[in-house]
Amino acid sequence: MKKLFSIENLTVLGIILGIAFGVFFKEQALLIKPLGDAFLSALKMITIPLIFASVFVSIASLSSVNEIKDMGIKTILYYFSTTALAVATGIIVVNLIHFSPPEGLTFSDENVHINKEFSFESLIKSFIPSNIFQSLAEGKVLHVIIFSILFAISVLTLQQYKKDIITNFFDGINDSMLTIAKWIINLSPLGVFALVAYIVAEKGLSSIFSLWQYVLAVIVGLFIHAVVNLGLIAFLIGKVNPFKYFLQVKEALLIAFSTSSSSATLPVSMEVAEKKAGIKKKVAGFVLPLGATINMDGTALYEAIAAMFVASFYGIHLSIGEQIIIFFTASLAAIGAAGIPSAGLVTMTLVFSAVGIPLEGIALILSVDRFLDMLRTTVNVWGDLIGAKIIDRFVKD
Ligand code: ASP
Repeated sequence: MKKLFSIENLTVLGIILGIAFGVFFKEQALLIKPLGDAFLSALKMITIPLIFASVFVSIASLSSVNEIKDMGIKTILYYFSTTALAVATGIIVVNLIHFSPPEGLTFSDENVHINKEFSFESLIKSFIPSNIFQSLAEGKVLHVIIFSILFAISVLTLQQYKKDIITNFFDGINDSMLTIAKWIINLSPLGVFALVAYIVAEKGLSSIFSLWQYVLAVIVGLFIHAVVNLGLIAFLIGKVNPFKYFLQVKEALLIAFSTSSSSATLPVSMEVAEKKAGIKKKVAGFVLPLGATINMDGTALYEAIAAMFVASFYGIHLSIGEQIIIFFTASLAAIGAAGIPSAGLVTMTLVFSAVGIPLEGIALILSVDRFLDMLRTTVNVWGDLIGAKIIDRFVKD
């Protein structure tokens, strides 16, 4: 009985009831937005201190610079190769589906806030903080991670007593943030109910049907990547049963689905990875924050499919060469996307510009973006969690 009413099961129920409430009680569902926002704020509140502390502790607890290199290289290798695999899957799916040029499709009347400034230059700049306190305050996750890594490496060179003081201090912060995460997780059934109900009421489900071909392609692509590609990688390289692992970490996936934010999900991913899946603290503390920021398999796959769908709307035929350009730019655009709702939509401009698809075409897919964001964020977080499990296997205690 206790198991039946577990937080995970109640969270699933929250999502289902949220969808129903959003469809049938639209006005009331719009009113409960503050409840969902409060839940999201609570998660975001602990994200930055948690990232700072966990990345620091994870690096500072490694015994040598070689060990840092070893874990870093393996993590980056995993992230880059799975992102590439995700985009390739997306491109193959689109080539198999063959979008028929959608008829009667109109541009969404929502305002498109597209940052046309996104470029390689801004991508490079996004790595280096000029004022770490500003980056902390503004929640610039990549800046915080990079500073935290440098800080931890420098601490490794200090005298032992100084090193111990600083490391214990951040270790304490890390553990207390995870305790707060646990408290917030207990509120997730209510939080996800409000978030999902509001989004369904605001956006309406009907747009999903008018863009069904595109929605289906994204769902099929994400499903293949999450179940087949990542499942096989977990099984063959990580030597874990992906289904069993899925059950251990599902709370994080439910939160990812409901919040559409890898960053906001991070406290929950770290909680379940360490406490339920038994992943070493130094691995979870490094691999997951980095993954929430640069590893976005779902987003990469989605951007490739979106670009090819919009191209077909404009009657643009994409040659193999152009599809290869999409492959590279979608991978980069996903790395550059922040772990927040709709971030992928902004970085998608890089992909569109690279192959000459009109940027205004983004307005075409805007109405379903928020729903697809839920799915791609879930795959993003699943990719991070599989990565943590695999790296955990190769890192000694
Ligand atoms: N919402 C996604 C995430 O947080 C990013 C995106 O694709 O928009 O992982």
